[in-house]
Amino acid sequence: MRIICIGSLTIMIAAVSHRLAVLIAALSLSAAVLPAAAATLVVYSARNEQLIKPVFDAYTRETGVQVKFTTGDAAVLIERLAAEGRNSPADVLMTVDAGELWNAAERGLLRPVSSAQLAKNIPAHLRDPGNRWFGLSMRARTIAYSPARVDAAKLGTYEGLAGPEWKGRLCLRTSKKVYNQSLVATMIAALGEQKAEQVVRGWVANLATDVFANDTQLLEAIAAGQCDVGIVNTYYFGRIVKDRTDFPVKLFWANQGAGGTHVNISGAGVTQHSRQAAAATRFLEWLSAGPAQAHFAAVNMEFPANPAATIDPLVQSWGPFEPSLINVAEAGRLQPAAVRLMDRAGYR
Ligand code: FE
Repeated sequence: MRIICIGSLTIMIAAVSHRLAVLIAALSLSAAVLPAAAATLVVYSARNEQLIKPVFDAYTRETGVQVKFTTGDAAVLIERLAAEGRNSPADVLMTVDAGELWNAAERGLLRPVSSAQLAKNIPAHLRDPGNRWFGLSMRARTIAYSPARVDAAKLGTYEGLAGPEWKGRLCLRTSKKVYNQSLVATMIAALGEQKAEQVVRGWVANLATDVFANDTQLLEAIAAGQCDVGIVNTYYFGRIVKDRTDFPVKLFWANQGAGGTHVNISGAGVTQHSRQAAAATRFLEWLSAGPAQAHFAAVNMEFPANPAATIDPLVQSWGPFEPSLINVAEAGRLQPAAVRLMDRAGYR
């Protein structure tokens, strides 16, 4: 009897521990699959709230993952990340220029992410060769001109705008903005420093007026007849022509067949000290594909980084172009040289 009892007890214990093992296995399985569903991701973003919130909200609806974000100037967010170190609540850093992501990566603030999806979705020239950041939208910086005063056949390259025929006809945004620093940095990569400096000196000699604080003012100056050509990010043009179809300025794709139009990215990386790197990586993967990728670009009239994603119809109406295939990391690496070059050339 006792033996039987002990036997039953053994069997019972065995049965219970088996169930327990199954339960534990089930729990750890859901722990492996589900923490993303319960997680809250924290994003430090240099991209504006109105451009990220609709996309982040869609992620929450689709996955249950909350996305909290803090927006601010990239340099400030990067300093904050560095100061917070291991205690930083941030899982993802998002910026609107590859140079900023390059800086953050160089300072050890971003971690390499191994993701077959990100490697497949984002072209190699729009992501860090070390996999610490990835472009999520592509922005083109090209030539804008007055079709009334400029024969488009006379346009060709950024370098061409240094020629004598553009004397007193060129408008430029300030060299203090990272966009022009990145443009000049990739010109250094393509042409070498000496040739790039000649070009920038030519631009300065051709200026119609003092440099502008932003691309929108520059476009308005062309429309008003203050100058005939300039260099802008295409989404600023898009913001204007969305409401003013008769805006008397056109875009010209620079450097076709000559190295391609200068492109930059808005993009993101997973922070070095994120405690949810896997969930943060899944978030970036989600942003790199499907409707999220199309939406992320369309909210700012940019180009999707993923070539398979749908382009906004207005953006598409500007026609296809050949982008520069120089890795956008060069914009970061050569930024200090670009700043010194522009200073020497008197580009303010
Ligand atoms: Fe911008």
